[in-house]
Parts: sequence; C-alpha cells; structure tokens
Amino acid sequence: MRGNSSTSRALNRRLLLKLLRDRGPISRAEMALITGLSPAAVTFVVAELMDEALVVEREAIAGATGRRPVPVDINYDAHLAVGFKLNRHSIDCVLTDLATTPLALMEAEVADTSPEAVIEVIAATIPRLLAQSGRSQSAVMGLGVSIPGEIDASNGICLQSPRFGWQNLAFASLVAERVDVPVWIDDDVNAFAVAQKLFGAGRQHRNFAALAIGAGIGCSLVINGEIYHGSRGAAGKMGHSISVPDGYLCECGRHGCLMAHAAEPFMLDEWQRRIGKPVTRAEFVGAVAAGREPAISILKDAGSRIGRHLAEVVNLFDPEIIVVGGEAVEFGEALLAPIRKTMEEFVFFARPELLPDWVPSSWARGAAALATQSIFDFERSPSS
Ligand SMILES: [Zn+2]
Repeated sequence: MRGNSSTSRALNRRLLLKLLRDRGPISRAEMALITGLSPAAVTFVVAELMDEALVVEREAIAGATGRRPVPVDINYDAHLAVGFKLNRHSIDCVLTDLATTPLALMEAEVADTSPEAVIEVIAATIPRLLAQSGRSQSAVMGLGVSIPGEIDASNGICLQSPRFGWQNLAFASLVAERVDVPVWIDDDVNAFAVAQKLFGAGRQHRNFAALAIGAGIGCSLVINGEIYHGSRGAAGKMGHSISVPDGYLCECGRHGCLMAHAAEPFMLDEWQRRIGKPVTRAEFVGAVAAGREPAISILKDAGSRIGRHLAEVVNLFDPEIIVVGGEAVEFGEALLAPIRKTMEEFVFFARPELLPDWVPSSWARGAAALATQSIFDFERSPSS
C-alpha cells in the first residue's frame, strides 16, 4: 500500500472506512456528499472493498416514496483478529471481529517468560480460540501482541521489557515465522489506547490520554488521531516517573517510581503491611467494596499520587479527555475520585474529564486492535 501510485487510493479507502466506522451504515451518495469524493470514486472504492469482503451492502429500508438507496456497512464479521496480552505468568487471549468484539476468550498459562515459550503458547492457542468460536475453518487476518515495555511498534521490536527480561528482540517477526499470520506488537497501554481510539470512549476524540492502572501504570497519548510513541518507543511511561526519591524498588531496577508506590501490587503489599497478615486480591476488593479501612486510605493515597503526576501530563498535553482502564478501575470511585480531585488541584488550566472504560477483556481486545487497526490505517505494515 506504499508508494505514490496507490497513495490516493489508500487514502480514499481509509477515508471511507473511517466514515463507516464513525457513522455506521450509509449510502454511497451520502459518502460522496460527506467526504467530497466524486460519486464515481466512491463507487470504485466501495466495489474494491466489497471484493475484499471489507464492506457489505445492508438491506435498504423501504419508504413511502419508493426505493431507498442501499446502505453500505463495514463487514465486521467477515474478518477475524487475535489478540494476546502478555502477563508475567499468563497470557490473556481473545479472538475478535473487526470491531474488536470478543468471539472467544481464554487465559493461557506460560511456564516461563522466554520468547520461545510465549510463542509456543500463542501458536497453540489460535486453533483453540477458533474452535471455541465455532469458526475452525476461518482464516485470521492478523495477530496483535501487547507487551509491557518499550516497543518499536513500526519495526516489531521489543526494545526492552523489564517484566520479561527481554531486550532488542524482533518479537513480531519471530511470532510471524511460527504462525504465518501478519503480526503487530506494541506496549500494552498503547494497545489499550488503540482500541479506545477505534471503538471505545476515545472514538470521537483526536487528542486524548489513556491511563492504565494495573500491574503497572502507563499513560498513552493519542495526538491527532495517532498513538504518540516518542522517538524511542518510551512515550507515556508515567509509571516510571520518580514519585518518592529512594522509595520502593521498581521492576525497572530504580527506586521510587510512581508504579512502585501506586500500582495494584503496591496497594496489596501496603494493605498486608498495615493489617499484618497475608492477603489476597479478592479480600482487598471485598474490603474496598465494604468501605473498610485501611483499604480506603490506601486507595486515596495511591489515587492522589497518580493524580499529581497526571496533572503534569495534562499541563504538557491538554488532552480532550482521559480514558481510564486497567484492573484497578474495579475499585471504582474509591480510587478515581482522589485521582480526579488531586489532578484538578494541581493542573494549571485544563480540566479534562476522567472516563473509566474497562472490562476484563480490554487488555486482550487492545492487542487484537493492533491488528484490526491495519484495516483502518493502511500506512501501517505488519511483520510477516
Ligand atoms: Zn520504574
């Protein structure tokens, strides 16, 4: 899709697919009217997209005045993507359609975090997901893997992932060689932001931040409709801002990072320190739901700390909204209210809305969105 001869065609395809994604089914005449493309150009591009089963004609609604124009829609169901979100001891796996709607979900165990072990689990899971969704005969259009770390997404290289001990690993091409499907990789919070941009709360926004609070903390930025990766794949690493000089040890090897003082593992450790006995996450969730101390104070402190750093992001970047995801969203307003309050206390001017948008499958769906976004963004090429 690169090169001058195909550039305008690619742009027209992207323009019409984006329009259909935003508006839902509309007629060719309306597409021409809204985009300013000629009716002939719209007809040509739609015919091409229909050949590839990317769009489909829907039933025209008959009106009193006779035949209505036939609406065209994205053929979400005709293409399948798979997403894998890598965790330390498991992989969240999902099979989705083009709208990143989950068709099959699975959590796969990994014996160790070596690339080889992870790739074997990925390869073995694809046929299981297809079977679970009753579509064993279907092809997969692409595969996305989200990895916590610094990722060169355009070249498919994991520059470093302290959680997995990976460095300068051409992970996308290693996976593509094994599974023979185009592969995209990115940081897990970036992947969450991609899904938010395509089909989530960020859909109507050109500039927004996607804050994730789970095993770590990240704040990805979407600027002018694109994920901002930075020059070294290290943008959005709010969780590694030093929050407490000489504080707790972070997984990155430094002391006092925000995530070491406010991510979920910190909350559980802190609760255990204060009540003086071993605890489980479920017990902590129960204590939060019941409004018990010291669980509520721990969330208040963590939230205030996050809000303070988030205010810096807002001052530098002025996002339209901040979408919040990650496992800790489950703690609800006990965590979100102090984030909001402190952020508003520390920002200079802008007060963007904080919008939680999270379900447990959001991580894996974000990974799948790395593949489906290639349909909506033809500049991006996979490793294959
Ligand atoms: Zn760190």
